[in-house]
Amino acid sequence: MCARAALSARAGRVHIYVMITDPIKRGIQLRCPNCGEGRLFSRYLVFRDECEACGQDFRSADTADGPAFFVGFLVMIVFAPFYFILPMIDMALWLKILGFIVLLSAMVGTALALLPMFKGVLFNLQLSNKAEEAQWESTGKHGAPPRNWKG
Ligand SMILES: [Zn+2]
Repeated sequence: MCARAALSARAGRVHIYVMITDPIKRGIQLRCPNCGEGRLFSRYLVFRDECEACGQDFRSADTADGPAFFVGFLVMIVFAPFYFILPMIDMALWLKILGFIVLLSAMVGTALALLPMFKGVLFNLQLSNKAEEAQWESTGKHGAPPRNWKG
């Protein structure tokens, strides 16, 4: 491989690395995917209409329930073992109930704390990758050939 091709390949890797890590890093910091300066949210889990620093439109992307799914899954994996272990421990009932209340509070608190970061990361990845809903070209009516059929 000549030096120029090696340099080009290395530049491609660096470019891909920046494309992937910047939206994630900026999402965790709850910052704009475009400039990294403006804040994403106007209040808890509510996106601003646009970036206050660079004017990037934030209305074009929608994370839907993606962040809730990932956060719920992660929190479930971390906390589920304790819900099985706690009833098996030999202790007073009121202590077990207290343990469940503390465990439930910790679980809900963790989920609520992680949600903005996950929402920011998914949102930033959507915007930086220009992700949008799939656009399907019609294949014609049932029983009829597609519009571009050349038969
Ligand atoms: Zn910005």
